[in-house]
Amino acid sequence: MRTPQEIIYRPAAGRVLARPSTSLAPRIVILGGGFAGVTTALELAKRCAGVLPVHITLVSEQNFFLFTPMLAEAATGAVETRHILYPIRPLCGEWGVEFGEMTVEAIDLERRRLIARHRRSPIRQQVQYDLLVLALGATPNVALVPGAMEHALTFKGVGDAVRIRNHVIDLFEAAALADDPWARQRLLTFVVVGAGHAGTELIAALEELTRGILLRHYPSIPKSSIRLVLVGKAILPQTATNLAAYTKEQLLRRGIELETTRAAEVSADGLKLQDGRIIPSHSVIWTAGNRVSPVVAGLCLPKTKDGRLLVNEFFEVQGTHGVYALGDNAAQTDPHTGVPYVATAQVASRQARALAAVLETEFTGREKKPFKFRVLGEMVPLCRHKAVADLQGLKLTGFPAWFLWKTIYMLKLPTLAARLRVLLDWTVELFFERDVSELAASETRRR
Ligand SMILES: Cc1cc2nc3c(=O)[nH]c(=O)nc-3n(C[C@H](O)[C@H](O)[C@H](O)COP(=O)(O)OP(=O)(O)OC[C@H]3O[C@@H](n4cnc5c(N)ncnc54)[C@H](O)[C@@H]3O)c2cc1C
Repeated sequence: MRTPQEIIYRPAAGRVLARPSTSLAPRIVILGGGFAGVTTALELAKRCAGVLPVHITLVSEQNFFLFTPMLAEAATGAVETRHILYPIRPLCGEWGVEFGEMTVEAIDLERRRLIARHRRSPIRQQVQYDLLVLALGATPNVALVPGAMEHALTFKGVGDAVRIRNHVIDLFEAAALADDPWARQRLLTFVVVGAGHAGTELIAALEELTRGILLRHYPSIPKSSIRLVLVGKAILPQTATNLAAYTKEQLLRRGIELETTRAAEVSADGLKLQDGRIIPSHSVIWTAGNRVSPVVAGLCLPKTKDGRLLVNEFFEVQGTHGVYALGDNAAQTDPHTGVPYVATAQVASRQARALAAVLETEFTGREKKPFKFRVLGEMVPLCRHKAVADLQGLKLTGFPAWFLWKTIYMLKLPTLAARLRVLLDWTVELFFERDVSELAASETRRR
């Protein structure tokens, strides 16, 4: 383990500031404040509290944890955006985990240190570690087709949810003033690329928001002006066939167009498909593909085709010592299926608990337990009181699935206060109109 002499103190003049550990205990640095990173840090801190002298540091670019399964609800105003965010500091403070709001820029595996900095600071911090946990997640792969990076909206972070909701309402305001029916339809054409969970959930939520709610407030807009298109080779490709078929039927019944031709290019005019057709639109939302954090992508280590790091059943990254990865950063083989676990919050949270146990054994010398987890199932909300659910073979559709989705995900929220806030949002919506005001922060206005 590291001694104080090994901690590198370099003057800030070099724009790199060494960040010494505040204790001589071994330092475990966990990167990423999502499902995997936060759960690992807290579980490990709980295991070590009062027993093992370890120094746990969590580094993430934002000081909150985002509950992504409710992002579509936040993007369409069904829940208040702030209610799906949870501050990391109080969670960490309670268990003595050090937190740094910094963006990790590079990792030097040989010297066991990383370079990170707060976005406002010109000075880079150099953080030494004894054990490193990589949980930096992934984002929609906007590099898949030309123009997506510049012209498509993404759907992953909290900013995306705020942007999408404002964008949709702004387009309705513009469409209400448009005389040309073609221009109006272009303003009101919403295209979601990627028919996996996130894309399917989002298009269903957009249908509810646009045709079900906003339309009531814009009497000059005919219903026929609103066009919703979901682009993807197959709907919910990883889901049981009958549930995917039910989902497809529901979406079609609600007038959502399904486009199976692949996307070729995104431009300011809309989405071009591979067969040359163009869907004119001001709103192309990209959810297709996943690409791991650039920091992970930059590590010269064995990876899968989609960039995830190959890890064994103890989360150890192949070709390293003392480096672990999990969640969307890791490709770990599911012993039940022989293929890597799907990148979901469900898997990331379970992996995190198991990794905390593995890390504890590093200090206790106890035997490590390999990670084995049978995926509990999946649920996809389709709004308008409908969802699909597959819980270890128990397949549900329609209202029962929707009710189950609401109950299970509400219980999965990290704190009691969070559960009450979301429950209140849902209850208010049962009796009152959804808020359709634009959150016109000056930044969004300028954009
Ligand atoms: C819209 C949507 C809906 C979803 N719905 C579900 C669902 O219903 N059920 C389910 O099981 N899964 C769902 N998922 C998938 C789930 O969100 C991910 O699998 C899960 O978040 C992975 O956890 P993670 O901790 O690996 O990564 P993340 O949760 O993405 O966390 C990564 C963290 O690292 C931080 N970070 C990234 N780069 C840096 C950097 N350079 N420096 C510092 N910090 C950095 C990020 O800010 C973030 O805090 C959904 C995903 C999306 C996008």
